[in-house]
Amino acid sequence: MKRIVLAAGLVLLSNAACGGTGSSDQSTAAIPPEATAEQGAALQKLSAATGERWSFRQHDLFATPAHVEGRTANLLAGRTPKAATLAFLETNKALFKMTAPQSELQETRSRTDALAMTHVRFEQRTHGLRVLGAELMAHYDADGALRVIDANYVAGLEGMDLSPAITAAQAEEKAFAELRARSQSKTAVATAPELAVYAPGDRAPALAYRLTIEDTNLDSLTRVEYTIDAKSGMVLEALSNLQELAAQGLSSTGKTFSFEASQQGAGYALIDTTRATGGIRTYSANNGQNAPGALVTSTSLTANWDRTGAKPGSAVDAHYYAGKVYDVYKAKLARNGLNGQGGAMISTVHYGQNFANAFWTGQQMVYGDGTAATASFAAALDVVGHEFTHGVTQSESNLTYQNQSGALNEALSDIFGNIIEHEVFPDATKNWQVGEGLLGAQFLRDMQDPAKGRQPGHMAEFVRTSQDNGGVHINSGIVNNAAFLMTMGGTQARSKIQVPRGIGWESLAKVFYRANT
Ligand SMILES: [Zn+2]
Repeated sequence: MKRIVLAAGLVLLSNAACGGTGSSDQSTAAIPPEATAEQGAALQKLSAATGERWSFRQHDLFATPAHVEGRTANLLAGRTPKAATLAFLETNKALFKMTAPQSELQETRSRTDALAMTHVRFEQRTHGLRVLGAELMAHYDADGALRVIDANYVAGLEGMDLSPAITAAQAEEKAFAELRARSQSKTAVATAPELAVYAPGDRAPALAYRLTIEDTNLDSLTRVEYTIDAKSGMVLEALSNLQELAAQGLSSTGKTFSFEASQQGAGYALIDTTRATGGIRTYSANNGQNAPGALVTSTSLTANWDRTGAKPGSAVDAHYYAGKVYDVYKAKLARNGLNGQGGAMISTVHYGQNFANAFWTGQQMVYGDGTAATASFAAALDVVGHEFTHGVTQSESNLTYQNQSGALNEALSDIFGNIIEHEVFPDATKNWQVGEGLLGAQFLRDMQDPAKGRQPGHMAEFVRTSQDNGGVHINSGIVNNAAFLMTMGGTQARSKIQVPRGIGWESLAKVFYRANT
């Protein structure tokens, strides 16, 4: 109570000092023009009840609140974030256009960050079915006050007909039929179709099956997420989300690395159980096309690791760098592995023949040997960090690998790949290049000067294309360049806007990690 009175006093004082005429009433709601009468009344009620000014922004597609901001009293005393949030939503459900938050929202995670702020995340369900992509996040400050709710809640699903007209097996057949139009795959496998509600907001919600079909064979490499209409059997969405670094060029390497391995029978294997609890495990596809392949072993702890075939020692690169990636995430960002809970980090090297690329499959990292003109794709720490970060992003913000969100996903991987490289091999120039050293004097991308990697560096240069999942490896240059400028300072090539002073690498890591998680 005391704090509220004080705050109101401060506002009065500052208004007087600058001659302003704004309202001094902290409990007056800021009702946006797009609010319904019910929402306006609910927001006013919330402001009056808390003695604070509340505001919100309506979601363009869903016409429910996308961002709600204000301040409650401490709601977390003796209550979990989940219970506190659900109680708040129940009281204010008219604002959110909800009917039964308790049964519609299922907690997916809750955590307290380094600034003592608590974040709780829910996914929306209706009659037990997931509403795909619909989420709500509540953010509490260090005093336990609810400050912000971000959501893309889909209202009005109560009356929806939730009985499918086709079976899960039929949905799977429809997905495979679509896959045959884009791939020669004979070895693809599907996940069990999940019955769910598909509500992208730009069309009426539909009952749908969601499944992923994946093929890890090199000549038919595929990973497509399908959404099949459970009434008509139509393919509503087919999203390719195999994430790879597209590349070609020159060179190779030869260094001595120290790393962790484990006893395996009479010999040893590339399993590091000292870091991620699930182990950092490194396999070889032996130039075949199956991942993960065979665990890399040796009869000696200190010799003979991966010494045969093309690009011998690639397994040592992948294993050693995976450990470095884990270490930097742990030391700089207090993150325990891919999923934050120490899950396994699996790498496969010697994938295919002359395969000049690296990719994240959704479960693990995979590296090709490259050609005679390139190094092994496991030989660049920023590339290893890039692929690993796709795993982090998948378990955190889960940015859709398409169009602008896909470009953001790619940029996050480039940024953290280079943050990790900067920690281990600091270099003023190379730390802003991606994949330098793999291709002789060339590199894949340049964050300082995206044009050198044939990328745009400013939104005015944004490339609209249907290639590359909507230009995910192209438009990432815009975010990459922003990350460079905010870190080091400088002048943006297109806008000529000057950043007089950068925030440095430490803050870069914190800002982007916070945004991604
Ligand atoms: Zn990538």
